[in-house]
Amino acid sequence: MEELVMGLELDYDQWTETLTGKFGLQRYRADQICQWIYQKKIFDFQEMTNLSKELRGKLADAVMVAPPILTREETSKDGTKKYLWQFHDGERVESVLLSQEGRLTACLSTQVGCPLACTFCASGEGGFVRDLSGGEIVGQFLAMEKLAGRDIDNVVYMGMGEPFLNQESVFKSIKILNEPKMRGLGIRRITISTAGIVPGILALAEAQMPVKLSVSLHAPNDRLRSKLMPINKKYPLASLLEALRRYQSATNDRVTFEYLMLEGVNDLPEYAYELAALLKGLSFYINLIPYNQVEGSKYKRSSAGRIKAFSNILSQLNIEHEIRRERGSDINAACGQLKRISA
Ligand code: SAH
Repeated sequence: MEELVMGLELDYDQWTETLTGKFGLQRYRADQICQWIYQKKIFDFQEMTNLSKELRGKLADAVMVAPPILTREETSKDGTKKYLWQFHDGERVESVLLSQEGRLTACLSTQVGCPLACTFCASGEGGFVRDLSGGEIVGQFLAMEKLAGRDIDNVVYMGMGEPFLNQESVFKSIKILNEPKMRGLGIRRITISTAGIVPGILALAEAQMPVKLSVSLHAPNDRLRSKLMPINKKYPLASLLEALRRYQSATNDRVTFEYLMLEGVNDLPEYAYELAALLKGLSFYINLIPYNQVEGSKYKRSSAGRIKAFSNILSQLNIEHEIRRERGSDINAACGQLKRISA
């Protein structure tokens, strides 16, 4: 038997090639099918009514368009939704749909588990299981958009996993979401968040793919950062900042830094000054993120007073920043709370 084609893994050119080559169809069929999948969120060929019955049957036999299966859904008091998805091998990831001022943002996972083992984050606790494919990343988006019954406005690659350790699939998923003949999501509506994987940042600088970039910094010096994020030993701050300078000269784009507020660990006033000095010369914005409690964690969220004091110093130094409002923490859907939940 011929191998089943996994439809969500195909980009636009691959759809065209598959349909013209394997099925001897005309090119416009790719446009039709992509419209069903990416605009109307119809995944079953039998429902694609502008294809002949015969063609529907042929496609259904040979191509599978299968977003992940929803196995659990939770809704937070603030309206944030968290979904647990299952892929065909039984592995599961979570993704989150945030609603703010009428805009929907999908937070997508890129790996099952995470190899980085940042000491404050739940996603790395169970170790790394596997990368998601491009279609599995896109599938989270499509399944959420179908459930939402309306367009999702923004995508952030801030779920479980490190996007730049699964760069090929992540880039492919962006290409699919952005392609006008597929989902047509504006490239500036997409944000990649990285723990600071230098080759990934450099690849993005070269990629002609002007998504927004966010870097999880969390500390202003190597001593502290290596304690919080072991990956800092491999890519210390000097190399990270050098990569960001190169990124910035290639893209002219501002970078966002995420800075967790951990009581008594990285929230001392002196660190605010050190942070300002470290980032000098870059064009950037800082998000101060109140730490979300992770079960069994040794860290505590900084008090509101300490966060305010840190923020005040940044203001005095004319550093643009905001204190991020937490979302969905009552259902463990907030940053750093996503886990791989096994069956
Ligand atoms: N690996 C990428 C993508 C994950 S993004 C990255 O590190 O950027 C998830 C964001 O949530 C990161 O900024 C991460 O540092 C942050 N985070 C992790 N644990 C957290 C927690 N317990 N509370 C708040 N933010 C957390």
